[in-house]
Amino acid sequence: MYRKFLPDYYYDTISDITPEFLLSLGIKALVMDIDNTIVTYDDPIPTPAAQAWFDGMAAAGIKVSFVSNNEWERVKKFNRSLNYPAYAKSGKPFIRDIKKAMADMGSDRKNTALIGDQVFTDVFAGKRAGLTVFLVKPIKDKLTVFFRFKRRLEVPVLRAYQKKKGGFD
Ligand SMILES: [Mg+2]
Repeated sequence: MYRKFLPDYYYDTISDITPEFLLSLGIKALVMDIDNTIVTYDDPIPTPAAQAWFDGMAAAGIKVSFVSNNEWERVKKFNRSLNYPAYAKSGKPFIRDIKKAMADMGSDRKNTALIGDQVFTDVFAGKRAGLTVFLVKPIKDKLTVFFRFKRRLEVPVLRAYQKKKGGFD
């Protein structure tokens, strides 16, 4: 019952996701969430670490795009120096902008992975679109009641993931 919420891979941070590993999976393009996946809500532009990660992907020939539920102003500013295909106010788990980003990159569901930090928007959207999905731990949650509530809802899903990886599926 959790299948559409289960990531294929679960890592601490995007820096654990290497170009070599992606290429070994046949992944040539990435659809990325921004907030709490690449940087915190408080970072308007890529951090040096994020930039180095992007540079590594570019060097390996892996394309990158952004699909965010945040505002256009935020996404455009973050993407200004990178100039990747980017979509804001995407309403994930709707997959319309994921499809647009894949068209922009000339990729398909077999060679595209989604990377995000939230189960019910990012993972669900990626799975609905038929992509390989990487979940990373949120860098820093906004400490609102709403976010903490959502995190609690995610616990059984993450347990199911651990169980699946443990070979009980
Ligand atoms: Mg996020």
